[in-house]
Amino acid sequence: MIRVEDVRKRFPGAAAPTLDGVSFTLETGRLAAILGPSGSGKSTLLRCIVGLERPDSGTIHLGGQAGLVFQSFELFPHLTTLDNCVLAQRLVAKRSRADAEARARQLLEALGLTHRLDAYPDMLSGGQRQRVAIARALAMEPAVLLYDEPTSALDPSLRREVVETLRRVGSLGMTQLVVTHDVALARASEVVLVLDHGHLVEQGPPQQVLDAPRHDATRRLLAQAH
Ligand code: ATP
Ligand code: MG
Repeated sequence: MIRVEDVRKRFPGAAAPTLDGVSFTLETGRLAAILGPSGSGKSTLLRCIVGLERPDSGTIHLGGQAGLVFQSFELFPHLTTLDNCVLAQRLVAKRSRADAEARARQLLEALGLTHRLDAYPDMLSGGQRQRVAIARALAMEPAVLLYDEPTSALDPSLRREVVETLRRVGSLGMTQLVVTHDVALARASEVVLVLDHGHLVEQGPPQQVLDAPRHDATRRLLAQAH
């Protein structure tokens, strides 16, 4: 679950707050997308949730740690798929090699990568690399998983694969929050949040927010996407 209550953040010297009283709740196991124009505060909100940025005020409850999947995936190029998913478990979670490997194999299987365990990142497709990055994040057992524009580094043919991956991760019971400009990805989510100038101006199921938008900011975003 993610519970964000009245989060505010203004960067020193900025004319206006980047987050101006953001509140929402996302139930466990749900997939939500955050849409919003460039500069609306989407990445800042994710960074606050993951703890990389500290809000000036407000509260954030996750019931555990957040895992962040970076846009560029940040895989270690000299490590195989399996070892990319084992390393942090060994170093940070202090798991034995056997435990870490068992967990990594299980997650890589769930994400359809069993046949790529021994491959190095440069031998993988963009979509496969991203699934390795997701498996690596899941191996640390985060309470929630956050993604900042997971499809923007991928060509359009791979974007559908990302939707499929996020659904699979959701079926494992993981709570997921995805910042995206990709309306197709937002449509595949269960909840859509629209951020504009640091305000959540709209939230609800995609059929409501995308098909019957109530706010000008949402209409502008949808017009740009077509
Ligand atoms: P994009 O779609 O382009 O990624 P975004 O919605 O993710 O945009 P943010 O990166 O959250 O937007 O930035 C929102 C505003 O906060 C911008 O005006 C940005 O310049 C400002 N900002 C973000 N991080 C910092 C920082 N560390 N210091 C100062 N200003 C910042
Ligand atoms: Mg951003």
